[in-house]
Parts: sequence; structure tokens; C-alpha cells
Amino acid sequence: MSETEIEQNRKELGSNPLFSTALFQLQNRITAKDFGKYFQLSKSENIGIEKTIRLNVGTTPYYLLLSDPLNEFCPIRRMIVPDEMETFLSPEESLDPLNEERLSPVPGLTHMYPDRVLLFSNHECSVYCRHCMRGRKVSFSKERMDSDSLQKCFDYINSHPEISDVVISGGDPLNLSDSKIEWILKKLEEIEHVKICRLGTRNPVTNPMRITDDLCSIILKYNTDKLSIFCNTQFNHPKECTTQAKQAIFKLLRVGVSVGNQAVLLKGINDDPAVMLELHRKLLEMRVRAYYLYDPELIPGSRGFRTALSKGLEIIEFMRGKIAGMGIPQFVNDLPGGGGKITLSPNWYLGYNEASRAHVFRSALTGDFHFSYEPLGSSSNQNYTIISNDDFNSYLSISSNPSKESFLV
Ligand code: SF4
Repeated sequence: MSETEIEQNRKELGSNPLFSTALFQLQNRITAKDFGKYFQLSKSENIGIEKTIRLNVGTTPYYLLLSDPLNEFCPIRRMIVPDEMETFLSPEESLDPLNEERLSPVPGLTHMYPDRVLLFSNHECSVYCRHCMRGRKVSFSKERMDSDSLQKCFDYINSHPEISDVVISGGDPLNLSDSKIEWILKKLEEIEHVKICRLGTRNPVTNPMRITDDLCSIILKYNTDKLSIFCNTQFNHPKECTTQAKQAIFKLLRVGVSVGNQAVLLKGINDDPAVMLELHRKLLEMRVRAYYLYDPELIPGSRGFRTALSKGLEIIEFMRGKIAGMGIPQFVNDLPGGGGKITLSPNWYLGYNEASRAHVFRSALTGDFHFSYEPLGSSSNQNYTIISNDDFNSYLSISSNPSKESFLV
């Protein structure tokens, strides 16, 4: 299709009088067979569309119109259009790298941490993100999360008083009907020991029209003294921070839902420190706090998205000092095999010199070395990386920081 025709098709899509309704967005999702009407597809994308081993292909018109019709490297486009990289399975990849199924006591529920469970409420999404780590759920799941299945999950939660926090994910829970969402929240609110409910949703990013007044009224009804409702969403690029997305976030905030962002580090999309900084600045302007930056999982066909582990550290190092701490995500790796999340930080703490009782730090702002005392009589030496006297003296000689004064002899 010519550039002009593609432009015309996009114009028609965006000018539909119902465009700003969630129903229009869901009923008019664009699937792979129609991508040629809205993109000049590259050879790699055509191969990806035909042979992807990842998940369903589809997007809301809203999210599609954020993408570039001509540039195959547009970050939004890369999150919705498969490319050839999705057709390769690497030996280290697996459908369930976090072992969530093994940690599932009843279908649709994962219980990894003692006080928390992950409830997979449904398997539908507004957009099928190419980097999704739950392709096995959203595209190939044999589970049917009907009311009976969900009730079995609630029964499990009810019989485990140690569970106080329920993360509702999927799929995307906000792709359920209002009445089903209300039913789920009511069920959770009725369980005495459940205090926290976290909605994991990309709808504020991919279909912000879904955050309707009716939905917010339901959330408000169950966001009570008894149950605190949070929302974690996933903005990955500044282009996603639109006026519509901001309005959706503000609606959630008005009903007392605090919104955090869980970005995924994606090669060629946001693996650039300046892009990540801009994203998190925009998020703070939308009153979204940074939560996580995920190192991508080892899922089938994901080689096109994976970055070196050091890239995440480089980004966090770059951001520190340039944005308030609430705008800096924790860089996390969800350990393959189901060991839970760990946070990774740049090497700002260098270690401890026993002779001088000094800890040595590197400033993220200036790179200079700073020094601080361990309390007198502390017996925690075994917890620290030990710095030899020679190394300590060389840090002292290089440092221009006044904190070194009392260590100089
Ligand atoms: S919305 Fe979430 S669950 Fe759905 S495809 Fe995207 S990342 Fe996966």
C-alpha cells in the first residue's frame, strides 16, 4: 500500500466519532491481517507476522496511532509488530522461565512469596505486547478463568491467613467487564486477612479510555479502610505519555489508587539512558511513581529485546542525581526458575577498611570517593567487602571530598 493510502487509513481510523470510547477500541482492534493497511511493513516484519513463535498479534487503534507507519524502528511499532527475531527459539528460553506454573496450588493462582499471591483473572489484553513475558497465558492458555475457577482461587486465599496482598494480573484484569471486576474486588474485600490488592494493567497505556467513570466508581467502592487498592502499569517509552494516558491516571488517583510504573528494559526501544530519564520525568508529571525496571525474561522468541545486564545498571547510574528518587525505578531481575525478584544497583558502595573503620562510597553525581565511619564496637565486619590498606589509601589520595579529612594521618 502506498504512503498516501496508509495515511488515509490512519486518518479514517482516528476520526471515528466513537474513537475515544473503550468499546470502540476493543471492538476495532487491529490484528495481523490488517497491519498492511496501517504500516509499510518491512521484510523482517512480514516474516515475523507469519512465523512468530510468541503470542497473538493485535493492538487498539489508539495505540496503533501512536506508532510510525513508515519507520520499522519506531519504539511503539516494535512493541506491536512482530519481526523476524520472534521466529527464533534460543536454547536458554522457556515458556515459563519463572516457574509460575509449578508454584501454582490451584489453576490461575501463583503463590511464590508467603504473604502474596498472583491471581490470573483472565487472558485477554487490549494490546498484545511483543515483549510480554506471559505469552503462555494470553495466547496459549488452556485455563478458563470462569467464575468457578476464580472461586477456587478465592477459596485458596481464604484458607491461607498469611496472604495479605493479592496481585491481579493476566492478561489484563481491566479487560474484564465492570461487573466481573466488581465481583472480584468484592470477593477479596470479604476475605478478612486480605489488606492489599494490586491491579496489574497496561490499559492506561494502551487503551486509556478503559478508565471510565463507572470503573472508577467501582474501584472507589472497594478501596476502603479494609482494602487498599494500588495500580501498577507499564509505560516503556515517553511517546506513551499522552494527554489521554494522563487523564486515565488522574482518574485513578482521584479514587485513591496510587499508580506505579513497571517498565521493561527493551533493546532498541528504551535501552538508552536519556530516553529512560525522559520517560520517568514525564511519568512524574503524570504523578506516576517509578517502581521497577525489569530485566527482560528468557521467554521464547525474545532475543530481539534482550539487552546486556550492564545496560540496566548504566541507566540507573545515569538517572541518579538527574531526577528525584521517586522517579528512579529499581532495576530488578526476576530470577529464572522462580527465586523471586532481586534488585541490582550500580557499584556505589566499594567496601570497608577495617584498620580505619571506614566505608568507601562512590558518588553517583560526581564520581568522587566519599568516606564514612562504621560505629565504634560494631561486629558487622563480616558483612562487608573488605578493602585493603593500600587500596584505601589510594582512594584517599584520589578523593577531593572533605569527608576524607579525618582519615588522613
Ligand atoms: S498487556 Fe501485559 S499481559 Fe497483556 S500482552 Fe501486554 S504485557 Fe502481556
